[in-house]
Amino acid sequence: MSMLEDRVANRRTFAIIAHPDAGKTTLTEKLLLFGGAIQLAGAVKTRGEQRRARSDWMKVERERGISVASSVMTFDYKGRTFNLLDTPGHEDFSEDTYRTLTAVDSAVMVLDGAKGIETQTRKLFEVCRLRDMPIATFINKFDREALDPFELLDDIEQTLALDVVPASWPIGMGRNFLGCYDLFRDQLVLVSKDKNNHLDEGIVCQGVEDPKIDELLPESYAAKLREDVEMIRELCPAFDLQAFLDGTMTPVYFGSAVNNFGVETLLEGLTTMAPPPRSAPSATREILPNETKVAGFIFKIQANMDPKHRDRIAFMRLVSGHFKRGAKLKHVRSAKTINVHNPVLFLAQDRELAEEAWPGDIIGIPNHGNLRIGDALTEGEDIRFTGIPSFAPELLQKVRPIDPMRAKHLGRALIQIAEEGAARTFKTRMGSDWVVGVVGALQFEVLADRIRTEYDIPVNFEQTELYTARWVEADDHNDLKKFVDANQASLAEDHDDSPVFLARNSWHLERAEKDWPAIRFLKTKEQL
Ligand code: GDP
Repeated sequence: MSMLEDRVANRRTFAIIAHPDAGKTTLTEKLLLFGGAIQLAGAVKTRGEQRRARSDWMKVERERGISVASSVMTFDYKGRTFNLLDTPGHEDFSEDTYRTLTAVDSAVMVLDGAKGIETQTRKLFEVCRLRDMPIATFINKFDREALDPFELLDDIEQTLALDVVPASWPIGMGRNFLGCYDLFRDQLVLVSKDKNNHLDEGIVCQGVEDPKIDELLPESYAAKLREDVEMIRELCPAFDLQAFLDGTMTPVYFGSAVNNFGVETLLEGLTTMAPPPRSAPSATREILPNETKVAGFIFKIQANMDPKHRDRIAFMRLVSGHFKRGAKLKHVRSAKTINVHNPVLFLAQDRELAEEAWPGDIIGIPNHGNLRIGDALTEGEDIRFTGIPSFAPELLQKVRPIDPMRAKHLGRALIQIAEEGAARTFKTRMGSDWVVGVVGALQFEVLADRIRTEYDIPVNFEQTELYTARWVEADDHNDLKKFVDANQASLAEDHDDSPVFLARNSWHLERAEKDWPAIRFLKTKEQL
């Protein structure tokens, strides 16, 4: 095996998806703890604690500040290198979260045991499903009163239309939560009295009939466990690794992240089951991780907090090859060569010393706005990666500079922001107003803050009557021209001067679609 093949075989790049408060931060902290990246774990913890005292908006702002550092957390466990990609934690849905999921190979879905599947879990799951991503489920907070575990399995199965197989099974809950039976490894894992950070110790059993269980558990608990396991064997399918890898079956773990419980069992599961870096589709061919030439795609842009610099960090997922600091890569869209001499490499505890990266790793590339979401960097091949999603704007607001003299500058700022992929921006034909389209309301606040700090233009966002935006296209240019001329009042241009129809309500859109059959009304525009 070559070094490249070996590194690929042992890389595991994943994300945690959860509804806010289910325990994503806590679980992240514990995973890092067991992975030996303890100082990082401390950082995550403070962040979790601070967060609760603050508003959603403050959360976003602070997340931006630390997000470069904590965007990718790398830890080693049992010979594997895990890259855990952070997804923004706030309630509002953001495009960043979606796109981050295009850069991972598997996900852990964390549920609150008292709540089951919540709205955000479901939305994030749907994004994972689009890519048939393998998902392991961790049902958290079993140290509190939780729903019946069978009910929870049913909830996942029904709500997400996913096959479920318990990997571990809880014994009691709340104050009487004694531990779990690890069904995959036939071990009894008991909650330890001492709360220090250590690994759960499993006691190997010969199945649930093992008399050891009677010594270790009160009689009624042992009986209940045996009864439950019998029911599981009757009701649940056997675990099928391929079905997990295809994203149609999820193994379910139970635990209490805050008490370190169940985390090790989950980590073991990821170590044995989670897939290595996947290949990536492109317009011309599939790019395989073991190819020796470096190729990667940009999936996220992070604007820097420093208002004096307009630097950005573009996050690239390395798809193939062995990347070394200083590599010269072709920026396919502009056909220019980029010298990546100061990448941010996220590696174990020695981030400073990292000089290289492997497929599945994430590289942060500082730049001045020339790198955009969806861009490919390669060692020469003209690759255009596909499958990086673009989102239909669901919320539209007008934006104006507080000082009208700054209107031109605002226009330039908005074009840059749109090029980055952080929002859609439209300029109306009549009135020349700027309209910004996003998918989550909180993005407006983030944008207002960015425009103020990065471009020094204080702005106001204002509600509009607008319902949605559609890019308009036609096979025959004359048809398009006729449509555009007849609908001036509802037309705008995006940052590339492509025409966009701004509908006032669903009726308005339906009407236009009916009246203009030659026109295509598109929800999104391809990134490139
Ligand atoms: P996030 O919003 O998903 O990142 O959730 P956090 O990790 O910040 O946790 C939300 C709240 O739940 C915090 O107060 C945690 O201390 C608490 N929490 C997390 N895990 C557990 C757990 O296993 N049991 C209990 N009782 N509380 C937990």
